[in-house]
Amino acid sequence: MKKTVTVNSAEQTIEVGEKLAQFLQPRDLILLDGDLGAGKTTFTKGLGKGLGIERPIKSPTFTIIREYQSGRIPLYHMDVYRLEQGGGDDLGLDEYFNGDGVNVVEWSKFVSDEIPADYLRIIFKRDDAKGDNVRTMIFEPKGNRFEELTTKLLGEI
Ligand code: ADP
Ligand code: MG
Repeated sequence: MKKTVTVNSAEQTIEVGEKLAQFLQPRDLILLDGDLGAGKTTFTKGLGKGLGIERPIKSPTFTIIREYQSGRIPLYHMDVYRLEQGGGDDLGLDEYFNGDGVNVVEWSKFVSDEIPADYLRIIFKRDDAKGDNVRTMIFEPKGNRFEELTTKLLGEI
């Protein structure tokens, strides 16, 4: 089964995030990778919407972690771009990963040492030949739970 989805607008990316959100439970880990402007934060807005978070989801580029407590379950949104490789030690990532909410990490390669065994990675790719608003999302689940979750999600799209 091919695990890719192509969307034509930011709104569609948000919709995929919203659909994923319905399946999420505490301690789920979603890694979002891809270049600057690829759509990682836009996708997280969809997750927030699907979790029922009313506060706007903003990029945590400067704060590194933003916490949202008002949805069905907490959302911890991290952008670790500004950390040096291995610089995640001080963030207490373990506590988040073993905590009470969904964890979303943009630029996960910068904290690769700290990433648990199971997660759903989504890689966002632009394709300028197809237009400014086209993105391909490549789903890379690790572990049974995320395999199943990906199958369910892609079955709905
Ligand atoms: P990242 O977090 O990966 O750096 P952002 O989500 O902050 O990226 O920015 C993506 C930008 O591209 C936004 O301005 C968004 O409106 C725009 N965009 C255009 N088409 C899409 C799409 N299909 N999916 C996501 N974002 C899109
Ligand atoms: Mg971002």
